[in-house]
Parts: sequence; C-alpha cells; structure tokens
Amino acid sequence: MLVGGVGGARFLQGVRELLPDAEISAIVNVGDDVWMHGLRICPDLDTCMYTLGGGIDTERGWGRVGETWHAKEELAKYHAQPDWFGLGDRDIATHLIRTEMLRAGYPLSAVTEALCNRWQPGVKLIPATDDRCETHVVVSDEENSGERRAIHFQEWWVRYRANIRTHGFATIGAEDAKPAPNVTEIIEAADAVFLAPSNPVVSIGAILAVPGIRGALRTTAAPVIGVSGVIDGKPLRGMADECLSVIGVETTAEAIGRHYGARSGTGILDGWLIHSTDTADVPGVEVRSVPLLMTDPPTTAEIVREGLDLAGVKW
Ligand code: GDP
Ligand code: CA
Repeated sequence: MLVGGVGGARFLQGVRELLPDAEISAIVNVGDDVWMHGLRICPDLDTCMYTLGGGIDTERGWGRVGETWHAKEELAKYHAQPDWFGLGDRDIATHLIRTEMLRAGYPLSAVTEALCNRWQPGVKLIPATDDRCETHVVVSDEENSGERRAIHFQEWWVRYRANIRTHGFATIGAEDAKPAPNVTEIIEAADAVFLAPSNPVVSIGAILAVPGIRGALRTTAAPVIGVSGVIDGKPLRGMADECLSVIGVETTAEAIGRHYGARSGTGILDGWLIHSTDTADVPGVEVRSVPLLMTDPPTTAEIVREGLDLAGVKW
C-alpha cells in the first residue's frame, strides 16, 4: 500500500479488516514532515499509527483522542513562532521520542518501528524514505512585490489553507533520497499493490518523488490498483482540489487515473477503482465503479475486495 494520512489510514483499516492474517506493509508519505519548536513531526505516519492503534481523535481525523493543548498555550504566551501549528500535549510525547531517537542516529524507519511497539497497528508502517524529502510550495509573496518564494507544505496547508497564489510544488531533497530499507523489495515481492485514495499530489505524488519507488511499481510482478479519493468531482476531505489545479490536473476520477497512467504505457496502474456514480476512461487501465465511501472498516474492506477482484488476485 502507498498511503498518506487520513485517507490512507482509513483505507488501511479496511485492508486489515479484510485480510487479518495477511502481511500488510504500508509505505507512508513523509513529504509533510517538518521541524517545529525543535521537534520532528511526521503527520502522515502519526495519523496511520494513531488510527490503526486506536489512539486517533476520530472527529478531527488527526492527533490524539482526549488531547489537551497546554503546551501550545504556553508557547503562545512566549509569542513563539510558528503559532499556526497545533501541537497537542499527548502528541508531543511521540515527537519527543522520535526526535531523541533521530538525534541519537536512528533512521526514521527504525524510530517508526519503535513507536509502533506501543501502538501495535497490525500493519507494518514504513516511511517512504529515511532521507529528508519534504514537499515545498512555490508561492507569490504579495507583501514583497509578488516575489516568488518556497514555503513548507505545512505552512501552505495549515497557515494559508492553500489560499495564496501558488505556482508549483518542489520536493526538497528528492534527488538524493533513497527508498527506506525494504521498500522496493516489498513492492517487488507483493501479491498486490494498492495506491490508497490519498491525495494524488502531496501524498501519493510525494511518495513517487522518491527515486526508485516509481520504477519498482512499474516492474513488480504484482498488479497495481489505484483507488480514487475524488468522488463526483470533489475530494471527500481536504484540499486535493487546490493541489491538483496547481499541477494542471482536473479534479475528476478520470483525470487522476490518467495522471497516474497505465503500466502498459508510461504510468503505474493496472486497475483503477472509482465511485459508483463516476465514469472514467483511462487507456490501458481496467476501471471499475464501486461504492468508495470509507464509512467504517467493513465498508472499506469491500473496496479492497473489489480491488483484488479487479486485479484477479486470489486470497
Ligand atoms: P492527509 O494526508 O491526511 O491529507 O490524507 P490522505 O492524503 O491520505 O487522504 C486525503 C484524501 O482522502 C482526500 O483527497 C479525500 O478525498 C480522500 N478521502 C477521505 N475520505 C474518503 C472516503 O471515504 N472515500 C474515498 N474514496 N476517499 C476519501
Ligand atoms: Ca498528509
């Protein structure tokens, strides 16, 4: 599985529900990762870990259930910047351990494994890379005569809510990044590979920016099945719309399917699942319409079952 945060975590719940005895590996986006107040934050890894481990705030979709915000309030009293990022007290413990381990020299994949000892997510969560590979966004600085500058994805997403003139995405560090240990081997040895209905640009796209991952998807013997996060021309949650328009892709299941493209051509898909009310023609890719609302794990398990069926995988 290639996964981002909320959409990825919900999809993984469905995979775990359908295949409780299978070995499930999730290659998780790290493009959103950021340093804040000296702490290393990995939003998508944490969303997957908390969701699958039963610690997520299900209403907010991210962060810890039963969270309090004392540290954030104290930081505000010091006028500490950045002040637009919510760091909960419980959540901070995770970031403290992660930062301490990274500073001691452990790679992020090993740190994630250690954190998962507590959460027991039931699937193996692996960062796409142990190297720094962060999504930045090129925007116009209106306060500075429209000069272009690159800001971190989190600043664009959380502070500006994508409401700023945007020219493109840049993945800082991508040229020198390598997939985390076993990532390409897992893709090559898999029975099936899913692209979760995560943001196609800043979640799946950021994973594909790590050199070697796209190549592994193109050469694996396993079928690669994508699941659309866009239903009826709208993302269900989040701002996939804004991200897609920046790269010139329409917010439709068809356009995203074509953007991923067929493995028989230059793309990465064999199968493409779209919502029952959508239609899509993606040359070289088998398309199937099924209900794609991830209401609860059993409903999501049906999506996974359809995907495996579409790909002709027996389980
Ligand atoms: P983020 O990193 O937390 O933004 O989460 P992801 O990138 O993993 O997922 C965000 C995407 O999940 C959005 O584009 C949504 O459209 C999609 N999504 C959320 N809920 C559902 C759902 O119930 N069904 C489908 N098909 N997509 C969903
Ligand atoms: Ca994310």
